[in-house]
Amino acid sequence: MEILWSPWRSKYIGSFKDDSINSEGCFFCNAVNNPEKDEDLLVVARFEYCFAILNKFPYNNGHTLIAPLRHIGDLQDLSEVEMFDIIKAIKNVSAGLESIYKPHGFNVGANLGRAAGAGVPDHLHFHVIPRWNGDTSFTSTISDTKVVSVSLEDTQRELSYVLKNMKV
Ligand SMILES: [Zn+2]
Repeated sequence: MEILWSPWRSKYIGSFKDDSINSEGCFFCNAVNNPEKDEDLLVVARFEYCFAILNKFPYNNGHTLIAPLRHIGDLQDLSEVEMFDIIKAIKNVSAGLESIYKPHGFNVGANLGRAAGAGVPDHLHFHVIPRWNGDTSFTSTISDTKVVSVSLEDTQRELSYVLKNMKV
């Protein structure tokens, strides 16, 4: 598998000092508890037991994270309704991204534990990453963080609109 090169992520990974975080210092919980800030916090959809938020440090355009509303880090702690809701969210978000960006494929999955690359190991989350043929060489040419943050706002607006109007 080819690895996407995204230099702005080093700032993100370097920002973690503590080994674990409680729900108060958790950016997922912060988003869960502040629905009026969806636009600022880049939340694109809320479901009954989970929600979808754009990754501020994306591997690719449209990189979205799906997390349960509860502050749990272990896959084993997911209830059946949460599992169903998360898969439904992954299905809807990928359909939304498909309709906007026409990607050629997706990477969907989770990094469980810091050793596996999880940035926030204490709040379980799944990645939905759109992929385009040849995007590994394309993203390596983007090194300006500002370019990415501008498109994040556009993505939040477009994707949340599409998801709100989705009949699933
Ligand atoms: Zn949390």
